[in-house]
Amino acid sequence: MPDPEQRLIVLSGPSGVGKSTVVAELRRAHPDVWLSVSATTRAPRPGEVDGVQYRFVTDEEFDRLIADGELLEWARFAGNRYGTPRRPVEERLSSGLPVLLEIELQGARQIRETMPEALHVFLAPPSWEELVRRLTGRGTESEEVIRRRLEAAKVELASEKEFDTTLVNTSVQDVCAELLALITASEV
Ligand code: 5GP
Repeated sequence: MPDPEQRLIVLSGPSGVGKSTVVAELRRAHPDVWLSVSATTRAPRPGEVDGVQYRFVTDEEFDRLIADGELLEWARFAGNRYGTPRRPVEERLSSGLPVLLEIELQGARQIRETMPEALHVFLAPPSWEELVRRLTGRGTESEEVIRRRLEAAKVELASEKEFDTTLVNTSVQDVCAELLALITASEV
């Protein structure tokens, strides 16, 4: 019997690299892929629905989640807090089912400490220029937020060597296929 933690796949990589696009496409094509829904203090972007992309919570509620030990990991990112609810992830893993987390670098590092058998996947942009283009072209963030995300992206790009494997996001379809193969392999 493999360790249940081996079924935990952590997808990370700089903001703007396309993690959420890849995950959304993967789930569209394979609705059975289970993705943890994070809690965040960030305000919803247009089109985002509470409980779907995120659980949108107040600062007070986030404090409570931390105090009650309800988060598997959490981090501050570009002025907001993000965290993975512990219980649904642990329940899935103990049932022997794969779990996908889409989180930033500090959270990935916490998971590496607490669940060493997890598989860490780094999603890299085809180039720095392409990442800047994607981050500035999103049109949903202020200049200040974009500046903070680009700063974070430099640090995140430098962390690639900490990961078990890297996927380069040149084509969403290709990355989805590669990610699906990793999830399927974790089930064996
Ligand atoms: P965004 O605001 O663009 O949705 O997300 C900002 C960053 O937070 C992204 O890199 C995303 O992967 C990361 N993130 C989303 N949920 C979590 C979480 O639960 N924990 C951590 N550590 N990072 C998260």
